[in-house]
Amino acid sequence: MEPLIHFAVPLVALMLIGVGFKKALPLSLFALMPDLDALFLVHRSFTHSIPFLLSLAAPLLLTLYKFKPRLLRLGFVALLSMFSHLVLDLSAGYTPILWPLYNYSVWFQGDLYALIGSAPALALNLRILTEPIIFEHLGSLDAPLFTGNGLFATLTIFTPLFVKTLGQKLLRLKGPHVRS
Ligand SMILES: [Zn+2]
Repeated sequence: MEPLIHFAVPLVALMLIGVGFKKALPLSLFALMPDLDALFLVHRSFTHSIPFLLSLAAPLLLTLYKFKPRLLRLGFVALLSMFSHLVLDLSAGYTPILWPLYNYSVWFQGDLYALIGSAPALALNLRILTEPIIFEHLGSLDAPLFTGNGLFATLTIFTPLFVKTLGQKLLRLKGPHVRS
């Protein structure tokens, strides 16, 4: 799945639950981290595993709990942001989401087809596919950072939030002048 969608989904989700743009932006960047494996020419590697990410995050979260408890909540949200990447990838291709506890990559496929003809009908297809995990070093790797579909979907869901945030900012700027 394209990085733009990985970034936009947690950004919009966080803003919808009331997290400000300035806070939501860096937290959403965490959702891109699992794909850093592509820099080493290995895609969908152990960086796409919940147990692996938890084993990395646990000491960091414990450190926050001990020394900066006020930041602990942000730490959890950053971890959830990373998990959102894995969930999205799970629907886009084989993902080693439970490695090393489960040595198979999982791909959740689900679609609902509308058959329009003499007798209209719906066809629901749900499949969970698995294949043995092989972390393969590739000679080269090319993938889109975004696609036209992803860009327009992102703009469509993000524009109302952006307009709302901008409107609130303008009202706040205007506020003191109205009172004086
Ligand atoms: Zn990925």
